[in-house]
Amino acid sequence: MLLKNASILYGKELQYIENTDIRISGKSFKKIKQNLASSPGEEKLDCSGLVIIPGFVNAHTHIGDSIAKDISLGSTAEARIHPIHGIKSKILKNTKPAQLANFMKNSCLSMIKNGITTFADFREGGLEGVLLLKKTISTFPIRSIVLGRVEYYQKQKEITQNTSLAKSKQTELAAILQNCDGIGVSGANEYSDSVLKYYSGTKKIRAIHSAETKQSCITSKKMTGKSETQRALLLKPHLLVHMTHASKKDLCLSAKKTRGIVVCPRANAALAEGIPDIELMIKTGNTMAIGTDNVMINSPDMFREMDYLWKVSMAIHKKRIDAKQILKMATSNAGTILNKKIGSIGEEYFADCIFIDKHAIELEPMHNPHASIVHRASESAIKAVMIGGRIAHGKL
Ligand SMILES: [Zn+2]
Repeated sequence: MLLKNASILYGKELQYIENTDIRISGKSFKKIKQNLASSPGEEKLDCSGLVIIPGFVNAHTHIGDSIAKDISLGSTAEARIHPIHGIKSKILKNTKPAQLANFMKNSCLSMIKNGITTFADFREGGLEGVLLLKKTISTFPIRSIVLGRVEYYQKQKEITQNTSLAKSKQTELAAILQNCDGIGVSGANEYSDSVLKYYSGTKKIRAIHSAETKQSCITSKKMTGKSETQRALLLKPHLLVHMTHASKKDLCLSAKKTRGIVVCPRANAALAEGIPDIELMIKTGNTMAIGTDNVMINSPDMFREMDYLWKVSMAIHKKRIDAKQILKMATSNAGTILNKKIGSIGEEYFADCIFIDKHAIELEPMHNPHASIVHRASESAIKAVMIGGRIAHGKL
């Protein structure tokens, strides 16, 4: 397939290039160049008037809780999402899998319509939870990165006594990992050093929540004398999620020891837990991506996430941030952190992209494409969404 005369955001730096052509072969972008001649029989699509941007990578979700939208709004973060005694965990345990699946499907559809072509999900519920999610999304074209976990949390005493992971749990973890893309750990406060170190042996993606709330940071210090992030790093994580209350020292450690941080600004705000300091995170050398977190708390919409993060960060720091930085967080940076050929329009990357109508009434005239996409565009400006070289939503 040959896409002709398009404006694109090219490569990891999202360079704006006008009037160029893209050849797609199979599932990937093959060639990006001006005036590409079509081969005999090749499908040709005129993309003038469109700007093609990489598909969004929603780098942190929990779509398993899509059934619990806006339940217990007045409660604290702990009361709502704590993995052991939170309202969410009770809902997940007491709802029929078929019902959970129905609402997960809705979230998938909603993400595709909003230009999300990949999502990375922390899936609760052990092996059953992972299999349910995988089965539910198998009929949708969206790309998924499923990070499972053993439904096992230690008590304070076990943590201070450094109790190791029981053999039965080790076997359970091995079965989970055979069926998904890696491990998504709830947090360091639920595990001893020994268990976190055991988890660090996972050969697939390793990810963990860290420093999401002030309380979780205080709990870690009180219980172990160490910061929550210091302990989270025992997992040897490829990525840390949140880091909203991490110290500068912890951010420096994260820059050295992980591939990056995924922030969830609207979810943090909705839980009254602050705003991640992306300026400091970038300054300390961290690669940054964005996730929309629990569907229970927040909508899986990357346009809203970018708009919110861009403006709230500038308002707090009274300092301008290049809109391109924010857009990279939603696309190419996530590809880097997850170490996949996603999030960029470049040769040999998966052909996952969004076709945005430059002449959409809310966008025209588009003087600054990056800023327009970050804070003006929405689902209504999307003409089509492509995943793996095939149109997954809309029409060209
Ligand atoms: Zn989360």
